[in-house]
Order: sequence, then C-alpha cells, then structure tokens
Amino acid sequence: KTLDCAIIGGGIAGLACGRALTAGGHAVELFEKSRGPGGRLASRRTPEAVFDIGAQYLTARNPEFQAEVRHWHQAGIVDRWPESLWVCDAEGWQRKPDDPPRWVGTPRMSAVTRHLSRGLKLHSQRRIERLSGTAQNWWLQDSQDVRHGPFTRVVIALPLPQAERLLAPQGGLLARACQRVGMRPCWTAYALFDRPLTHLASPSPDWQAAFINQGPLRFVTRNHSKPGRGGQGESLSLLASPEWSQANLEQDPQWVATRLLEAFAEHYPARLPGTRLVSAHRWRYAQPEARKEGDETREFLIDSRGLALCGDGLSEGRVEAAWLSGHRLGTHLNLNDLEETL
Ligand code: FAD
Repeated sequence: KTLDCAIIGGGIAGLACGRALTAGGHAVELFEKSRGPGGRLASRRTPEAVFDIGAQYLTARNPEFQAEVRHWHQAGIVDRWPESLWVCDAEGWQRKPDDPPRWVGTPRMSAVTRHLSRGLKLHSQRRIERLSGTAQNWWLQDSQDVRHGPFTRVVIALPLPQAERLLAPQGGLLARACQRVGMRPCWTAYALFDRPLTHLASPSPDWQAAFINQGPLRFVTRNHSKPGRGGQGESLSLLASPEWSQANLEQDPQWVATRLLEAFAEHYPARLPGTRLVSAHRWRYAQPEARKEGDETREFLIDSRGLALCGDGLSEGRVEAAWLSGHRLGTHLNLNDLEETL
C-alpha cells in the first residue's frame, strides 16, 4: 500500500531516501530548515567566486554508490578532482597519490544535492521542532507553528544530536541510538585573493588540494582548480582540525578566518597575495566521531511506530555513507511491511 512519508532533513541522506521512496510510488514530503537542500554539501556563492565550505570531495568504494556516481558523471554534475593532491607535514610538501579516485560536484559541490532534489516535494525554510501523534499517524510541527501531516512514516535524516532533540520525547530505540555517537565540529575559512598564489619549488604550481598534518589546519583546497569554476580568481577553502575547531568553537568567525589564513601562510613557502574577501563558517556537527573497534554500525534504524533514522551519524562521516544510508532505508521501506522490518 502507498505510504505517506515525511523526511526531515534535505541533506544527501534525506534526498536519497526521498528518491527511493518516490520511485517506489509513495507520497513523500521533505522538510528542510535552510533555504535550499544540500546540508553539508554546501557552497557559498559571492558575485566573484564560489567556495565549497562543507564536503570538499567524495569517494565511491561501494559498487551501488559507484554506479550512482557514474550517473552523476554522465549528467555532468560531478567530475574527477583533485588530480594534484599534496601533503604538508614536518618534512615539507610532498605529492600524494590520488588513490582512491575522488569526485567533486560541478560547478559547485551543492550541484549534487540540487540534482537529487529535482522532482521531490521539498519544503524549505521549515525547521521541524516537534513530532506528535501515535504509531503510523504522525504530525510535524515547524518553528512557525504550522502542523504538517498526518504521515504514516517519518524519516529523520539529521546529524544525531539534532535528531535526538526530536526523538528524545518519543523515547525508544531511535532516541537511544542518537546518544551513542558524538559529532565533531569543523571551522571552514575561505579566502579570495587579488591575484594568483606565487609558487616556489614545492608544491608545484598545479597543486589543487593539500592535507596539512600540523597546526590548526587539516585540509586546504583551491576552489578555482575544481572543474566548472575556471572563471573565478584564486581562492582557498581552509578546513580546521576537529581539535582546533572544538577549542575555538565560540570564537568570532572573522577571528577564525584570519587565524586559519595565517596558519596557512606559515606553511606555504611563498608570501600570500592580498585578499579581497576572508570569512568563515562553523559546522557544529561536521562529522561523527570515529567508531571504536567492535562498535555496532547500522545503515539505518526503524521502529515499530513508523519512525526511522538515517544519515552519516549511524555509520561514517562521508557523503557515500550518508547516501547509502538514505537510499537503503528508502529501498527497505519500499520492500517491507513495518512488522517485517523489526
Ligand atoms: P546533512 O548534510 O547534515 O543534512 C541534514 C539536513 O537537515 C541539513 O540540510 C540541515 O539544514 C537540515 N536540518 C537540521 N535540523 C533540521 C530540522 N529540525 N528541521 C528541518 N531540517 C533540519 N564527506 C566526504 O565524503 N568527503 C569529504 O571530503 C568531506 N568533508 C567534509 C568537510 C566538512 C567541513 C563537513 C562539514 C563535512 C564533510 N564530509 C565529507 C561529510 C559529509 O558532508 C557528510 O557525511 C554528509 O554530507 C552528511 O549528509 P546527511 O544528509 O547525513 O546530513
């Protein structure tokens, strides 16, 4: 029979779940608190440049996800990047083999989630604050006090601490699962320069991205080197380490941006050009903490009342894991009666 499904969260997990359920013939409505879909596949657009400020690339190891990425590639929304990846540590700058292949959204990371959202009924700027109802008869209340429903299934596709806020009053298996894993923060700074970077011996002028294994930074990318961004000037996204981000979580974004750019200047062999724009974005919930050996991982969870949980929090903080979690939950709901899923 046809289900009435609500999905809370328009990141890649919620969208993948929505597409699978729609393909199964069910009625699906997505609720997203931001202006558009995407979640942590986020890009900041200015008149002069596009900066990816969340996930910088994705990898595809699972055959099902590899097939999906091939479709995205054929549709022109992802391309291979980076081809020139570096590591900067105490020994200096060294080239890193690009293994496994990495992919980036084109002309920006959020192109992937835009593509997935096509044809789905997505309510943007709707922050869901409360669930109410009884099994298989759920209502959602948003921050503007509008009630949506009733729904027979509610999929919660959020970082676990945000999912917990909705699920704690309901108790049960899903609420408990949300407490099992914490999320680590990440500050991402971004800078647009008034001219290209100068190059000395190493890294070579074609460097596109670098893991920085010292100081506050962890990863730096040259946005204009990504496919589809050719027209824009030299710009960097600068991702801080989880430890540094946690220690400076409540700092002013401008202070953070300046500090991260200074940290890069300390490691980069040539003097940096002047900047036209420097800013920073804080991800309070960037990626789940690494699992300890033996910890249980599940792609998704469903309870007997028609509530379900998906997203990267249940397995691994990667785009691939989030997509697989949402896609497999949607496929599972298509194929199974609730009683059979438990
Ligand atoms: P999200 O993308 O967080 O989606 C959840 C959505 O729910 C958001 O759109 C949010 O606005 C919305 N929402 C929240 N609360 C509510 C509410 N109450 N009501 C309605 N909507 C709500 N992965 C990689 O594979 N490679 C990388 O290089 C990589 N780098 C990363 C770098 C950074 C800085 C960050 C932050 C993440 C990175 N990741 C990377 C991880 C990857 O981005 C995530 O694993 C993936 O995007 C998670 O998708 P999701 O759908 O589970 O969650």
